[in-house]
Amino acid sequence: MILHTDKNIDPQKLRQLADRYEAVILNTPDFNVLITPSALKKTDEADQQFIKESFVFDTDIQLASNKYIKGKRSIKIGDHYIGGNSNNVLVTIGPCSVESEEQITQTAEFLKKTGLKSLRAGCFKPRTSPYTFQGLGLEGLKLLDKIRQQYGFTIVTEVRDSSHVDDVIAYADVIQIGAKSMYDHGILRKCSKTHKPILLKRGFGSTLQEFVQASEFILSGGNPNVILCERGIRTFETKTRFTLDLCGAAYLKENTNLPIILDPSHAMGYAYGVPDLARACMAMGIEGLLIEVHPNPAVALSDASQQLNHEQFSRLFETLKPIAKAVNRTII
Ligand code: PEP
Ligand code: MN
Repeated sequence: MILHTDKNIDPQKLRQLADRYEAVILNTPDFNVLITPSALKKTDEADQQFIKESFVFDTDIQLASNKYIKGKRSIKIGDHYIGGNSNNVLVTIGPCSVESEEQITQTAEFLKKTGLKSLRAGCFKPRTSPYTFQGLGLEGLKLLDKIRQQYGFTIVTEVRDSSHVDDVIAYADVIQIGAKSMYDHGILRKCSKTHKPILLKRGFGSTLQEFVQASEFILSGGNPNVILCERGIRTFETKTRFTLDLCGAAYLKENTNLPIILDPSHAMGYAYGVPDLARACMAMGIEGLLIEVHPNPAVALSDASQQLNHEQFSRLFETLKPIAKAVNRTII
């Protein structure tokens, strides 16, 4: 259950209620929120004087549920919003990894030409092998910061583990939690203590229930700004890298109040399929798209096979515009 109590409830009473109902306390500017296990369906008669509003749930998807907040939460990214009353769709692009100042500047120059405002690139890479490029780390974050100051883009970049989570929170406008880190509670808890938007990717072996419950750690810790990212799940299929779960995206759209960004690049794993998938994603009427774009994908130090070159992205982008319009979305 979620219970709202008056803002000026006696703190001792609030603590008592939290203890009695095994609740997490969340302080918001307008009221206090108690989040109990969803198995609780009603409170004692005597406590009702302290409870202004209550919400009952079938499962532990509670703060993220559209039974709690109708529609999508509004999340500010730079000067723009996604979700809420806006019909914006954030198209965030860039290379898998920041590789050099030259590469990221070429990307920034390209982004400027497209008119898009959000650059996504990784500095701490959660690679499958320890013998491959692991990212430029803090040096990469500093390069991204320089680009932000020069071009005014918002920066989306990922955190790989809790050793550098504070640096990523300090430098990024949107903190990406990668698929392999979806269950990293050190990261989830740290990200719950900032109000910067969190782009939480679905673990490729996680159910939708597990995915949304991971977001509950961030929400219940105090950060209301969570965006869900479907990036492909592992299936029996081996011809593509993963399987983009658009059914799952439809479920998230219908049942949660969190904005959704779809990532066709990591799902497909091959550049040839990304434009078609990106169009399908845009047609779903979601809040964002993440597409990997590199000045020269053939020499990329990570995810080389799936990144689009600038010309390929430009062609795709022109076809995304009428689709966005058809589903009443404005590309930002
Ligand atoms: C990435 O976005 O470059 C990445 C590593 O993605 P994922 O966590 O989805 O594998
Ligand atoms: Mn990548």
